[in-house]
Amino acid sequence: MSALHDLAVAELARRLRTRDVSAVEVARHFLARGQAFDALGAYLATDEEVTLGQARAADVRLAAGDPAPLLGVPVAHKDIFVTREFPSTAGSRMLADYRSPFDATVVRLLAEAGAVSLGKLNCDEFAMGSSNENSAFRPARNPWDTSRIPGGSSGGSAVAVAARLAPAATGTDTGGSIRQPASFCGITGIKPTYGRASRHGMIAFASSLDQAGPMARSAEDCALLLSAMCGPDPDRDSTSLDMPAEDFGRQLGDSLDGLRIGVPREFFGPGLADDVRAAIDAALKQYEKLGATLVDISLPRTELSIPVYYIIAPAEASSNLSRFDGVKFGHRARQYDDLVDMYRRTRAEGFGDEVKRRIMIGTYVLSHGYYDAYYLQAQKIRRMIADDFQQAFRACDLIAGPAAPSVAWKLGAKADDPVANYLADIFTLPGSLAGLPGMSLPCGFGEAGMPVGLQLLGNYFQEARLLNAAHRFQQATDFHLRKPEGV
Ligand code: GLN
Repeated sequence: MSALHDLAVAELARRLRTRDVSAVEVARHFLARGQAFDALGAYLATDEEVTLGQARAADVRLAAGDPAPLLGVPVAHKDIFVTREFPSTAGSRMLADYRSPFDATVVRLLAEAGAVSLGKLNCDEFAMGSSNENSAFRPARNPWDTSRIPGGSSGGSAVAVAARLAPAATGTDTGGSIRQPASFCGITGIKPTYGRASRHGMIAFASSLDQAGPMARSAEDCALLLSAMCGPDPDRDSTSLDMPAEDFGRQLGDSLDGLRIGVPREFFGPGLADDVRAAIDAALKQYEKLGATLVDISLPRTELSIPVYYIIAPAEASSNLSRFDGVKFGHRARQYDDLVDMYRRTRAEGFGDEVKRRIMIGTYVLSHGYYDAYYLQAQKIRRMIADDFQQAFRACDLIAGPAAPSVAWKLGAKADDPVANYLADIFTLPGSLAGLPGMSLPCGFGEAGMPVGLQLLGNYFQEARLLNAAHRFQQATDFHLRKPEGV
């Protein structure tokens, strides 16, 4: 029998329901693993009492035959979601001691579905970054090679799932933060269509882009979680879509015969590392074997997605982060002369370098005289990028390509070079700017045995189809079942 931590979410839920194992036993098992692998830096906060309390409550519901789909299944949350029972820091000194009076909608929905929370996961400060090195507290390490980054900003989530410290985790994706760390850590993650999951209680980075999604080992597990996480939230998030919750697993198992997969030629330029290219090419061949047809497509403004995103996201961030002023919540400088000095010192002390950089860029591009030159232009190109996808989807049903141009790099390798980090987001940004659903699934190994992720993008509301395409691939391959040595 496989160890508890190797079980898929559905299997774990089944064993809990048949009372083969109790929610308390499962929770204890994962808490112990979290401690044993603490050096990976996955968690920012755990609380045995809270987790075991939730597990006991799940056992009571299980004994009563409650049909909630995730009853007793442990999940851990990216520390960008606010939670009542754990600290909520957004990876920032600004919120180091912050406790929220409420749970984020996504956290609440998962709890209602029966999930037991294992704690809060490391991330880049306010979800800004691609390596998790912008966490104010500690770096997270890639379990496939602990001298490498796990990706970001949902780095802790990817580490926890890859190292079997949690069967599944939540993440958020503003410009790739679910897909890229999933790719770097050899797991599966999906970002749904913008507006599917409520942003209420997700500490805001760039509101027109931020979207929550699950990270787990397989597409099947992701479908189970995503089905619990989505749904309208009109009173709390005005951009949440007025669409009922769905069973995103409803197409799992459908044949891929005749599926047209668009392969954007701009994703295969000279910037793509050879090892990644080889793994992606092999994955595309596998899709042909599964009955799909590959179609050559063009997303001509792929390169522009970098400057466009790095104008729009900082612009929105500079506005969202103005709430951290030392008055309402979070850190306040101890010593100051007057009100303005208090603001200045609070923000100088509370924010890290990358966050400050983005506040400055965002303030600049929104300021009088520069607004038209930068922000407005970026918005116009954003629209064209979205239109390019609609054009492409006339010729194909899904789009496939790399999630990132290379495998995970060494800790520190790009730490002093923000632009190098930004450039590495090139393949995830276009889908984010268009608000499309996207995912990454393990499709091979590259340099130094590091995982490579295949990115799949769908048109709006095509999550079920995406998940099935990933699932069929996972039925034919075992990349998602491989695990790092020592875990
Ligand atoms: N790496 C991108 C950034 O730094 C994306 C982050 C995200 O999706 N949260 O902004």
